[in-house]
Amino acid sequence: MSPLVPEPGETEGRGRLGSQWRTPSRWPYTCYNLEVLIVLASLIVPARKQLMSLGQPSTVDVAPTATQRERIARASALRELADDLRDTGAMFHDRGWSLGTSSNYSVVLDRDPLELLLTASGKDKGRLDRTDFVRVDAAGARVDHPEDRFPEANRPSAETLLHVALAERPGVGAVLHTHSVWGTLLSERHFAKGFLEIAGFEMLKGLAGITTHETTKQVPIFDNTQDIATLAGELRGRLDDSAAPLEHGFLIRKHGLYTWGKDVAEARRHIEIFEFLFECVGRLEFST
Ligand SMILES: [Zn+2]
Repeated sequence: MSPLVPEPGETEGRGRLGSQWRTPSRWPYTCYNLEVLIVLASLIVPARKQLMSLGQPSTVDVAPTATQRERIARASALRELADDLRDTGAMFHDRGWSLGTSSNYSVVLDRDPLELLLTASGKDKGRLDRTDFVRVDAAGARVDHPEDRFPEANRPSAETLLHVALAERPGVGAVLHTHSVWGTLLSERHFAKGFLEIAGFEMLKGLAGITTHETTKQVPIFDNTQDIATLAGELRGRLDDSAAPLEHGFLIRKHGLYTWGKDVAEARRHIEIFEFLFECVGRLEFST
């Protein structure tokens, strides 16, 4: 029998969306199928037109253009990164590691060419505002983008070139610097030796790549100076030293700690780990 000819008793009593999709060879069901297809087409065609119109210039200027969307996305990412550093500053200030406008923090915004978001000089790290930053290039000079300029008075930190020297290394996404009491005391106490040795602490495992407490970590100590360009050159030499590559962080004599990470979270963890270890070592050394 042809599929278009009904069988007796099978033309009535069926729901519109009943079993027709499972038995499409009977003519009433074929009619139902056609009805359903018409309904679906009436829904699909306008939807497809709407989809095809996406990305096309709109006659009504309500949706942002592609360039605007890029700017919005960039501004939003910039705000999030600034907020990460603001939260970091509030925490470090509370812990006494970034007092009196000391310290500076940065995050890599771009690699080609290198661009950093850096805390501006002289800002209270416990109360950083979203505008308390500056963008710098690979030479440490301020750079501005027309759509998101920071206040004219903002100046890059005096230690910007240390951030640049670290940020230009692959895998470094953020650099954090603190001025803690324990870091300052230990950097003086161990300066003559050239490094602070930390061994056997479980918390060493908080440094990226360290998997056992049976580790001896030597934290290099550089002499303090206001000649940051020379110090940055010295730092690059130590970072490039294949015999004893500088990893995780270093101290500056009577000054503080620099550490870094693939992102702000990892760099912050490294600060917490180092500051914990400094306090442990310091309390042990200064109490005996
Ligand atoms: Zn400093």
